[in-house]
Amino acid sequence: MKVPLLDLSAQNGPLRRELDRALAEVIDSNQFILGPAVRDFEAALGAYLGGLGVVGVSSGTDALLLSLMALGVRAGDGVIVPSFTFFATAGVVARLGAVPLFADVDPASFNLDPASVERLLDRGDLPAQPRAIIPVHLFGQGADMDAVLSLAGQYRLWVVEDAAQALSAVYPSRDGFRPLGGLGHAGCYSFFPTKNLGCFGDAGAVVYSDENFGARLRSMRVHGADPNEKYLNRVVGANFRMDTVQAAVLKVKLPLLNQWSAGRRANAARYRDLFAASGLVDRELVRPPAEVYDGCGVENHHIYNQFVVRVKDRDRLLEHLAAAGIGTAVYYPRPLHLQPCFAFLGGAEGDLPVSEQISRDCLALPIYAELSEEQQAYVVETIQQFYA
Ligand SMILES: *Cc1c(COP(=O)(O)O)cnc(C)c1O
Repeated sequence: MKVPLLDLSAQNGPLRRELDRALAEVIDSNQFILGPAVRDFEAALGAYLGGLGVVGVSSGTDALLLSLMALGVRAGDGVIVPSFTFFATAGVVARLGAVPLFADVDPASFNLDPASVERLLDRGDLPAQPRAIIPVHLFGQGADMDAVLSLAGQYRLWVVEDAAQALSAVYPSRDGFRPLGGLGHAGCYSFFPTKNLGCFGDAGAVVYSDENFGARLRSMRVHGADPNEKYLNRVVGANFRMDTVQAAVLKVKLPLLNQWSAGRRANAARYRDLFAASGLVDRELVRPPAEVYDGCGVENHHIYNQFVVRVKDRDRLLEHLAAAGIGTAVYYPRPLHLQPCFAFLGGAEGDLPVSEQISRDCLALPIYAELSEEQQAYVVETIQQFYA
């Protein structure tokens, strides 16, 4: 049996006619950049998110970069980020000449540990004055936003949510249920093909609730051009425009997003049962991911962009699974404070022990909605066989 990490044909197949039609419309319109489908998709996503403003952009990375630029984060400013995340979260900070300030994560949620953030903020010897924080909702589950927002209020930080993996997930905040991405000053999504809502290339979006900020994002998306006078630039932006093709695809797929995320949740629940029954959990060989908001009153508090287990002897298990036809991946094998490009910040082994430990023992298993029961059983049996 083969179990790929992700099977996009299984998702696109049933939509093929609708996708063909949407793509043909774009070809006939000759408006390939920021065409009508981009506006339509922005409106549809805004409505889906309960009335947030949406700016479609060129990627999730660019959504983060544009957000920081529009908030006025500049060279020399400090931006707090988790060390255990995709590179882009910190890369965009460095690209602005700003300084990533790495905090550790919580071993259960994989997300920013508020205590580590607070220790960082209280340090007297930070290399840069913190101006912003980027909580990441890793693998599709919200960071502790109540704590992040309260620290941000106390220390006057901008909050840019990296919700690249978390569109369609809900956070049970003190003020009620809110879509992840909709809690900070800006929220960033990615539509990279492997995300829960993926397009046919690169695209992303920034969401906002302040209209003035939205206008600034829109202008900076096109080099900072004045909306009424194309060659009048009041600020410096860049080319962060969204392709019409991507918006056309996303418009077709958005109505199915909740259904796909529910499918991922159902598969996660099945893995949990299979792992519990296998004895691997009791023997502490496999630790399934924690649902830290379980029982909060909504289902989609974790939408499993990835199903990441922590395992003993990870690298050899990965090879064993690959040999059995099972696709897995390590998200992420190197904490960012130990990346060579950030060596100048002086990060050292032992600084952020939780990030370091998780990067040694994490493993993402196939979780896409179309995965069959037989495939999941095969994955768990193959893992059992490895530890036998
Ligand atoms: C995918 C991802 C990004 C970047 O999105 P792209 O569209 O690939 O540029 C940023 N942060 C996280 C956590 C991601 O998973």
